[in-house]
Amino acid sequence: SAGNREEFDVVVVGGGPGGSTLSTLVAMQGHRVLVLEKETFPRYQIGESLLPSTVHGVCRMTGVTDELAEAGFTLKHGGTLLWGANPEPWTFSFSVSPTMASATSTAFQVERSKFDKILLDNAVRKGVEVRQQVTVNDVVEEGGRVTGVAYTDADGAQKEVYAKFVVDASGNGSRIYKKVGGTREYSDFFRSLALFGYFENGKRLPEPTSGNILSAAFPSGWFWYIPLSPTLTSVGAVVRKEMAARIQGDPEEALRSLIDECPIIKDFLSDATRVTEGDYGQLRVRKDYSYHQTTFWRPGFVLIGDAACFVDPVFSSGVHLATYSALLAARSINSILAGLVEEAPAFNEFEARYRREYGVFYEFLMSFYDMHVDENSYFWSAKKVTQNQHSELESFVELVAGVSSAEFQLADAESAALRFKKRSAEFADAIDELVADEEQSMVPLFRSSVVKQAMQEGAQVQGRALLGEDLGEDVPMFEGGLITSDDGMLWLVPGQA
Ligand code: FAD
Repeated sequence: SAGNREEFDVVVVGGGPGGSTLSTLVAMQGHRVLVLEKETFPRYQIGESLLPSTVHGVCRMTGVTDELAEAGFTLKHGGTLLWGANPEPWTFSFSVSPTMASATSTAFQVERSKFDKILLDNAVRKGVEVRQQVTVNDVVEEGGRVTGVAYTDADGAQKEVYAKFVVDASGNGSRIYKKVGGTREYSDFFRSLALFGYFENGKRLPEPTSGNILSAAFPSGWFWYIPLSPTLTSVGAVVRKEMAARIQGDPEEALRSLIDECPIIKDFLSDATRVTEGDYGQLRVRKDYSYHQTTFWRPGFVLIGDAACFVDPVFSSGVHLATYSALLAARSINSILAGLVEEAPAFNEFEARYRREYGVFYEFLMSFYDMHVDENSYFWSAKKVTQNQHSELESFVELVAGVSSAEFQLADAESAALRFKKRSAEFADAIDELVADEEQSMVPLFRSSVVKQAMQEGAQVQGRALLGEDLGEDVPMFEGGLITSDDGMLWLVPGQA
């Protein structure tokens, strides 16, 4: 009966970084939010290497930066790569230049069980109701609109709960993403498989890079080597999908022989032992993880994070895309609930910006693979291979990591204005240099208009800061689109702000 109908403003399916971030940002605006999570946290998840925009941007907005700083996660200044034409490892740093290194030019390597629990506990503190061991099976539809979800609760009872908006943040294994419409399109380019496990007492890179992710290419693919604690290391091989049968047949043997193929990883693990107990004790395999849904929303329903799309493990963009899309969707929901923007323009803005960010990373990561020259290898020759130098790419890594889609709100509040002023001259020069040389550039990245546009927008925003204009004076990212409120929590219609 109507009297028993349980209702919230927003029901969020999944309590990973996407779900916890969105629910927190919506609850902070005073709305009633319910998160339904299948597991009991802490629970295992892959995706341990983070980017600065997550740690110092979105996590600052949800009010969890201090807790993250105190959690003892490995501090990550950047990445070290054995990749491309250079036979020696090279290192990129998240700061625009070493002289500009600041407290926000860092990220963490995290045990996701701990990281995700910190974010979900914070959601509860900010007023979100979280129910765990609850599996969502379907959406409820009324008159063409999604108005709730059907779920199985911890006691096995079948129930329904209703909401003005349902958010699918249930990741790669979502049961309800199809209900948004469209199709999940798998990437032709990123068709890899990942095999991963955990080791104790692996070697560390020398200071000051000991906290970096090490990514090492070898004939069959590439390895990630992520220092999660002084002794614990996450080690994963990304190889072509056709190796699935061999890997699934005997994962232990497969990992051993892949490690043997990659001298630097073999050396780093020479005194290490594989963890064989607990959450880290099993070898895991993931494939078919590179896709995007052709539509991200319909009335009453929106997909964020991996439920909507994921590119590839290289360069650690997954949690960034999950938390950034959560921020974009939270703005949409907050503005609709506040009566500031209609549903369609609000969610169209979310979708356009999320696709843009996904597109930038897609092309960027493609260029990452593109720069590796090994024509004798099946894995690498299956990728488009071009000859190039790594220096331009290095510069781009530095830039993109610090300037996520020209988002002022993702910068450190305390000194944002000052830092942008200091940095922008240097930044604008760097962009000019990179973009001006487009014709000669050997890096396909800079021939890509979407990446170029993103970089130029970043430069523009920083240019405004240089000229001393108000940080809050936003301009739409797309023609006829919306702008962001000063606090970053809402979309506004330009002119009505
Ligand atoms: P998830 O983290 O998947 O969270 C979804 C939540 O929903 C889970 O807690 C799940 O239990 C819950 N759930 C699922 N189904 C239901 C249901 N029916 N009902 C209720 N709850 C449900 N990203 C990085 O940033 N850095 C990396 O180094 C990195 N490495 C990666 C390596 C590999 C091999 C892969 C495949 C991915 C990697 N990623 C990495 C990506 C990262 O794992 C994801 O992008 C990220 O976890 C997405 O967050 P999310 O919140 O969207 O979903």
